Amino acid sequence: MGSYQIEWRGNEFTNFSSREENIPLIIVNHIVDGTAESCDSWFRSSTNKQSSAHFLVTFKGEIKQYVRIEDMAWANGLKLYDIPKAESALVRSMKMNPNLYSVSIEHEGTTGQLTEEQFQATLWLHRYIQDYIRNKWGHEIPMDREHILGHFEIDPLRKANCPGKDFPWEKLIKELQKKSQAKSEQKWRYEGVEFLHKQGILNDLKGWKEKICEPMPVWAVCLLMKRMILKDEEKNIKTDTVN
Ligand SMILES: [Zn+2]
Repeated sequence: MGSYQIEWRGNEFTNFSSREENIPLIIVNHIVDGTAESCDSWFRSSTNKQSSAHFLVTFKGEIKQYVRIEDMAWANGLKLYDIPKAESALVRSMKMNPNLYSVSIEHEGTTGQLTEEQFQATLWLHRYIQDYIRNKWGHEIPMDREHILGHFEIDPLRKANCPGKDFPWEKLIKELQKKSQAKSEQKWRYEGVEFLHKQGILNDLKGWKEKICEPMPVWAVCLLMKRMILKDEEKNIKTDTVN
């Protein structure tokens, strides 16, 4: 999976407001029900006083942004009296406008069927949003169907077809969970060398991390064991040559 460029397309007419200190808790998927061009010009139009989204993903796999993640887009607004009708238990429990705690992604198309380029781009974007929120607010959005939603789960009455019957939920969640698993596995791999480094048994932490999956020669294993035994005996280990 490659890296993507996000093109900023918001202008002075793009609708947004304050999150009022709320942290984003969910990612909401939408369908344009039309072309990327129509969506792009609508989100930049002076006559649009009603809607916006943070991102748009095109058939070609381009990613455009209209509203900062720090701000609230006008994508899945709900009147307070309609909140109990939401399919999402999380949305029902929040009892406030879902725009305040969501990040919204529009997708070019009509039925929710994505091109492969578009699927890969939105997969990357979900991960990007998760990383962004972790870095900014220290909050981890779980990559599951409770937190990765469709507009229809917020507003089943008016938005039953958003993002559409062909939206690849199963494939998306499966790929997202694969990647978050890979990430946590990787973190776990460093735990041992970080501990031994803190204990003064390994010196070159960066070097060891770079070779984290490589086998160790017998001499290095033995030197490490020697260091540990000597350290245990509170003896000087400075004569060793292994890094
Ligand atoms: Zn929608």
